[in-house]
Amino acid sequence: MALVVHKYGGTSVADAGRIKNVARRIIKARERGDQVVVVVSAMGDATDDLIALAYQVSEKPSSRELDVLLSTGEIVSSTLLTMALQNMGHPAISLNGAQAGIVTDSSYSRARILKVESQRVVKELDKGNIVIVAGFQGITDGMDVTTLGRGGSDTTAVALAAALGARACERYTDVEGIFTADPRLVPEAQRLDEISYEEMLEMATYGSKVIHPRAVELGELYNIPILVASSFTDNPGTLIHGEVKVEARNKARGVAHDFDVAKITVVGVPDRPGIASAIFVPLAEAGISVDTIVQNASIENITDLTFTVAKSQLARAMEVVQPIARSIGARECVSDSRLGKVSVIGSGMQNAPGYAARMFRTLSEEKINIQLITTSEIRITCIIAEDRVKDAVQALHRAFELDVEES
Ligand code: ADP
Ligand code: ASP
Ligand code: MG
Repeated sequence: MALVVHKYGGTSVADAGRIKNVARRIIKARERGDQVVVVVSAMGDATDDLIALAYQVSEKPSSRELDVLLSTGEIVSSTLLTMALQNMGHPAISLNGAQAGIVTDSSYSRARILKVESQRVVKELDKGNIVIVAGFQGITDGMDVTTLGRGGSDTTAVALAAALGARACERYTDVEGIFTADPRLVPEAQRLDEISYEEMLEMATYGSKVIHPRAVELGELYNIPILVASSFTDNPGTLIHGEVKVEARNKARGVAHDFDVAKITVVGVPDRPGIASAIFVPLAEAGISVDTIVQNASIENITDLTFTVAKSQLARAMEVVQPIARSIGARECVSDSRLGKVSVIGSGMQNAPGYAARMFRTLSEEKINIQLITTSEIRITCIIAEDRVKDAVQALHRAFELDVEES
């Protein structure tokens, strides 16, 4: 008997009716002869609601308590799904992250899975149970509850699939797979039949929140194929895996976007060794992840240093950077929180000239100002004004002919 791990996102378990729909889908998979482990997200907007509640009782909720609070969202959905399955006559049991053996480090709100101690899950499968695991959470060696970062249930699912030797991980959501751009922004976006781990990792990291980047990373590491498909239909979905044929015709695979970009510029920095480390080491120590970094060419040994962070981290980053800027003799520190980014991604872009030019020309024709540019071998990203992101995504999708159906 093969084992498969299913994962259902928040929209798919948003109310009692949808939970029963998911239960029926799981039973179908079970009746095809597979053993099934299921990972669920919290119902609908439950996680956002819990965060809002925490901030109603405290300006600065402690990170430990916040993680325990947020972990309850997934406990609600996992128990309800288990009850629905039992009520339909199928043996099932719910396990929280700790019971499922998801052991993490102790970085609250963004913990990383260190190991999966899967004995309990295996024992329950052997008893004939369908095992429903609360996603997004784990436990430290010291028995404190942690969460894995927003969207982290995907990571729980792939980590369990790897630990259990599952044949695949199937991630069910409210879209029919991975599209060439977010279908909410680009109605003409096309569903991809397949995509490589490498390309999906860039798409997810640069804003395609349909799957968590860490889940894709783990999939690649353990060679677990990940199917992304709809929980509302039986259509085929998109397979994320390692043996994708090289696409000769259209070398760009997709456009990703992210509205969550803020920028800090330290103006008039003396250009001498040690300055970058004086700024970025304390930021790292404060747990702030810095994305794009650009240092201008210096004029008379004075330069500007610009970097981006998530909007939610801007205030904290400014608190850290302002005193440092003063102490190193910089002129001032300025910030802008109304930015976003657009990226064009595709492994065929490697060593192929003209992609960057096409991207810049397209944005210029739309009169969209590019503030910063970063690239990897298979991606070009431009930081632009937040209110132009939608136009940029639509124009790039057309310019790279992603709206043309593959034959
Ligand atoms: P879930 O509730 O299943 O966790 P999410 O809302 O987290 O679902 O993720 C699914 C959403 O991701 C889709 O509704 C879609 O708007 C968005 N999305 C962003 N980029 C893409 C893409 N390239 N392909 C498909 N969906 C995308
Ligand atoms: N419920 C969590 C969130 O909303 C985790 C997840 O859905 O994967 O981010
Ligand atoms: Mg989600």
